[in-house]
Amino acid sequence: MKKLFLLLTAIVTLIVTSCNQNKKEHPAQVNSTKIYFNGDIITMEGQHPEYAEAIVEDLGKIVYVGTLDHAQTKFSAARKIDLQGKTMLPGFIDAHSHFSIALGLVNQANLCSPPMGEIKNFNDIQKALVALKDARNIPEGEWVIGWGYDPFQLEENRDITKVELDEVLPNHKVMLVHISNHGAVLNSKALEWANINSDTAQPSGGVIARMEGSMDPAGMIFETAWLPVKANKPKSNEAQLMKDIDNVVMQYAANGYTHAQDGATFTNEALFLKNAAAEGKLKIDVAALMIFAEMDQWMNHPDLNFTKAYKNGLKIQGVKIVQDGSPQGKTAYMTQPYLTGGPAGETDWYGEPTLTREQFTALFTKVWNEGLQIFVHVNGDAASDDLIHALETVGATTEQDKRTVTIHTQFQRTDQIKKFAELGISPSYFTNHCFYWGDDHIRNQGEERGKAISPMKSAMEAGLIVSNHSDFNVTPLNPFFILWTSMTRETRSGVQLDQNERLNAYEGLQALTTGGAYQVFEENRKGMIKVGLLADFVIIDKNPLKIETDLIKEITVLETIKEGQTIYKKTIDTNNSFK
Ligand SMILES: [Zn+2]
Repeated sequence: MKKLFLLLTAIVTLIVTSCNQNKKEHPAQVNSTKIYFNGDIITMEGQHPEYAEAIVEDLGKIVYVGTLDHAQTKFSAARKIDLQGKTMLPGFIDAHSHFSIALGLVNQANLCSPPMGEIKNFNDIQKALVALKDARNIPEGEWVIGWGYDPFQLEENRDITKVELDEVLPNHKVMLVHISNHGAVLNSKALEWANINSDTAQPSGGVIARMEGSMDPAGMIFETAWLPVKANKPKSNEAQLMKDIDNVVMQYAANGYTHAQDGATFTNEALFLKNAAAEGKLKIDVAALMIFAEMDQWMNHPDLNFTKAYKNGLKIQGVKIVQDGSPQGKTAYMTQPYLTGGPAGETDWYGEPTLTREQFTALFTKVWNEGLQIFVHVNGDAASDDLIHALETVGATTEQDKRTVTIHTQFQRTDQIKKFAELGISPSYFTNHCFYWGDDHIRNQGEERGKAISPMKSAMEAGLIVSNHSDFNVTPLNPFFILWTSMTRETRSGVQLDQNERLNAYEGLQALTTGGAYQVFEENRKGMIKVGLLADFVIIDKNPLKIETDLIKEITVLETIKEGQTIYKKTIDTNNSFK
């Protein structure tokens, strides 16, 4: 299937490429005016669902929204596109994911288990690795790498070892990166390369698993044993990345996104994205958030400008500051102790901030004074308190319209929602966590705090403009799964988290369209079907406002249109590997 997928990607790329070639030869044909009609066209304008009978696109923009009769009279030469009862929405706005990380995964096998992937057992892993080797013609001696490996989701319920990996790929170096990114399993050739053998002592703070009854390494390495391997593992060169980026753009487009975020951009990644944009590779808009840790490098870099405008599809949007870790890793910074202790067995554990409050405030003030938009990773409520303190220190008000965005905002107290409104903070939530880690949150934080995660409804009622995100590759890009988690708030085991915080389908869609557009100051450019905005659309097989909630996560993207041009069209099952 992977092979088929790659082939289909190539075909779609061909179609897109030939469209662009047509553009040069027959501009009139490609730029011809189009009338879309005969479907559920949800405009996303206003606080309640509104449908348009017809819309007209011309030169990449929406030029008419209204009745079909009027559209036909006014644009009599326009090409008519019959939606045949399908549903049309503005293209989805990815409010937070990691475009650059996705790029690194293209040349790796997806080893995620359902619902993120299809890997159920060791045999599936073996097949996926061999399929990657075949599809990419990876010669012996080179690396075959997989991502998303999670032994707890496998039928065997134990780590795979070098024995099973050597069985299928004895002459390649094989590495399965753990879903947490904190470890990996290596085969014999890779262990040899990493210089890990029977004589290698276990480093402090690390794990080297051994074959039963011996010192022979089994393959699995974790934490400090993994770090040197991680640091030295092969990186793609720019030529390869330039080829792979088409695939990443296609994955976003196949999920209906016409706007992607690169949620923590390093300087070299920004420079690569700039080159890729100049080569016309960005068929969707990409907004990059420069990572605070490299501020010295990018702040006055002659090739990187915070311009507020896209150049060839790329915009340097703002700065990403990370103030804590993750609640499932017990590194989210909380005001109440974790009931189950810390990640290394600490007692009376609250998680830790990345920066002290003083350091955070100083950094925040510096970036604020540069006039740059700030996105802050805050998971725990103590991290949000630090942000509130920093905004109070700089004297932030809603009138200034700075739109400081919180990324994740998972454990947020009611009093903080009020403060967010006063200080002009726009939160991005992460309701997929309800499904993936909701059970862990109840265990670690207790019923009350665990179930209160991602209070999106309260935030909306307090007047905040909010978005919802995948944090890909942490959870799948699929916007309908995100929509479903925001509407059900059910854990993997079926426990219902605070049901008062559930959104209805329209509110859930706002968080995937208008909310994200607002957070990048583009509410007058995208996120709605409205005259004057970009003709960025997604056509889907069912109307989420009209079907049962449980069917929402099964909705399929049929076509994605960016500024009037089709950038993705579903032909047959494309086995979308990033779903
Ligand atoms: Zn992220």
